[in-house]
Amino acid sequence: MRKLALIALFLVQLSHSFAQSKNSPLQISHLTGDFYVYKTFHDYKGTLISANAMYLVTDKGVVLFDAPWDKTQFQPLLDSIKARHHKEVVMHFATHSHEDRAGGLDFYRKKGIKTYTIKATDQILEKNKEARAEFVIPDDTLFTVGKYTFEVYYPGKGHASDNIVVWFNKQKILYGGCFVKSVEAKDLGYLGDADVKEWQKSILKVQSKFKNPKYIVTGHDDLKDLTSLKHTLKLVKEYNAAKPSGK
Ligand SMILES: [Zn+2]
Repeated sequence: MRKLALIALFLVQLSHSFAQSKNSPLQISHLTGDFYVYKTFHDYKGTLISANAMYLVTDKGVVLFDAPWDKTQFQPLLDSIKARHHKEVVMHFATHSHEDRAGGLDFYRKKGIKTYTIKATDQILEKNKEARAEFVIPDDTLFTVGKYTFEVYYPGKGHASDNIVVWFNKQKILYGGCFVKSVEAKDLGYLGDADVKEWQKSILKVQSKFKNPKYIVTGHDDLKDLTSLKHTLKLVKEYNAAKPSGK
């Protein structure tokens, strides 16, 4: 009887801790070294869809790659980072103009954080009368922050006409954003601003330029499976075989 009670208690605790982490609107998890990924959620027609983003902790401050897809989490993200790492966010990159990536530019810019996009993203944001980054960077730019160096790279059109990826050559981390679909993805998702024909070429460029990634951070869903880029290429090829115009 006592054993049973203990098991029951254990199960209650387990489900409780699971429910807590599952329901949290901001879920931070450790990727490797000083790299962390975080998940936020967006209500899309009554269904909560998650989005992945990443931050890097350096001795010069924290670098944020994409913003929460949930406005209510812009400040909690800064607070959580501060509580966990005792550091401020100093830089923020938005990897294309969509809301799940660039939605925090205004908020973070006003906080005094240096915000960055490439020119193509800036032009789309300007056209849509949305908040823009403080700094517009060339399509292929190398940054060094503390002991970390990374390359912000525009591979060509794909999920969006302005999607960029970020490559950490020493750590072999590819931050793909929405350019890379998770292995769980059954299709290419939202294609309103996509160029699927070009996406194929753009993936090949990324594959030949950034070899043997140890981590690939996808825009949504699972990011542990390293075949995500190949999986994206397969989805793109299938799509193009069915619709040769790419639209
Ligand atoms: Zn997008």
